[in-house]
Amino acid sequence: MSSTKKPKKAPIQLVKGMKDILPLEADFWSFIKERVFLMARDYGFQYIDTPIVEATALFKRAVGEETDAVSKEMYSFVDQGGDKLSLRPENTAGVVRAYIEHGMLSLPQPVKLFYFAPQFRHEKPQAGRYRQFWQFGFEVLGETDPVVDAQLISMSYFILKELGLNTEVQINSIGDDACRPKYIKVLSQYFKDNKKDLCADCQKRLVKNPLRLLDCKVKKCQEIAQNAPQTVDYLCDVCNKDFTAVLEYLDEMDIKYVLNPKIVRGLDYYTKTAWELVELDEEGKLQALGGGGRYDALVENLGGRNTPAAGFACGVERIISKMREHKVELPAAFRPDIYIAQLGTEARKKSLRLMQELREAGLSVAEDISKTGLKNQLELADKRKAKYALILGQKEIVDGTILIRDMENGVQETVDYKKIVKEIQKRLNIHVVEKVLRGHSIRNK
Ligand code: AMP
Repeated sequence: MSSTKKPKKAPIQLVKGMKDILPLEADFWSFIKERVFLMARDYGFQYIDTPIVEATALFKRAVGEETDAVSKEMYSFVDQGGDKLSLRPENTAGVVRAYIEHGMLSLPQPVKLFYFAPQFRHEKPQAGRYRQFWQFGFEVLGETDPVVDAQLISMSYFILKELGLNTEVQINSIGDDACRPKYIKVLSQYFKDNKKDLCADCQKRLVKNPLRLLDCKVKKCQEIAQNAPQTVDYLCDVCNKDFTAVLEYLDEMDIKYVLNPKIVRGLDYYTKTAWELVELDEEGKLQALGGGGRYDALVENLGGRNTPAAGFACGVERIISKMREHKVELPAAFRPDIYIAQLGTEARKKSLRLMQELREAGLSVAEDISKTGLKNQLELADKRKAKYALILGQKEIVDGTILIRDMENGVQETVDYKKIVKEIQKRLNIHVVEKVLRGHSIRNK
């Protein structure tokens, strides 16, 4: 019951940059989650959930101290025990920490893991950018073959396609320890020659992380980056061969891609293949919905054995916003088999028990037990698109019967109360196959 009195205290509001997930978007969330979990099952990935809080040192070492995600955007604090902790800005570092810490190196390789979890970055709030946002990601640890890169690219592309989004795969190779140093030298020299025209941030990056100059958002820097030397021209034989193989696999799968030498990904741990899935936004600018790459040096860098790995992550809020922009229609919403409408105290009591019996028989049941009027309840049954309504009133209680109403044509029939479960199963053509945990049944239709 709501009161009309003015609240005594001022409301506390959402923290800047955060976002509530409201029932209005719930169907999108459920649909995306369902598709991600189905894809994981089909491709043999297992779910992993690591803590939101990790040692700050993990991200400094894994993601890199000079990256924006760590140096500018990380939520870091010292806890009551004096430990330096951070909210994770991304999930790969935590997954790799867990892989090493729980001895997954000794499991049959590759180990294939996936997550669906919130990440935190103290970015400037703007459309499509939040300070808490959700990502789903897939990681393959312990396999060096470039076929893994190609499969991950295809998974990231097709999951977005299944969600109704046509993205473009933009791809690059950023080399490895054998060839990247040479490239960085040439790249640094190029930017040094143009230093006076670079933004203040890029002048700093030039010393600490010249690769990052390639994805600076400042217009002047982008113009300079346009003519910068490209990684693909400096790849060693191994990186070159692997990159060619990835592209051949993509051709084989008919996945269109665009070579984009500017894709270096924001985080330090990437090697070799790097890709992003992009879409044009309302202003015609490219917006990334996801991205990934190979990170062969990360496991060792975090204290494990030398272990090759690759993975990708997609942003759930951005996906939902694109799905809404493109008016993607979700599959028909859930329809309950039965709606229980009740009238009077006795009927209300009995329907509480009936609801449980129907659920145990494997039927989905809807109700609004706190409502009283029959008309009202039948309207709600209609709104929820229930297939049948069961009506239990004072008369039925006395007679030991119940009314069954076909919600499609409004035809009603009186049925012996004791036979109602069987009657509904017959009408819905359900054969109960097997009882499983929680008393629910798996059913065949
Ligand atoms: P990243 O880990 O930076 O490669 O990001 C992967 C994906 O996560 C991006 O393509 C976005 O879809 C999403 N993402 C990254 N940062 C944010 C943010 N601040 N707010 C919402 N989504 C984000």
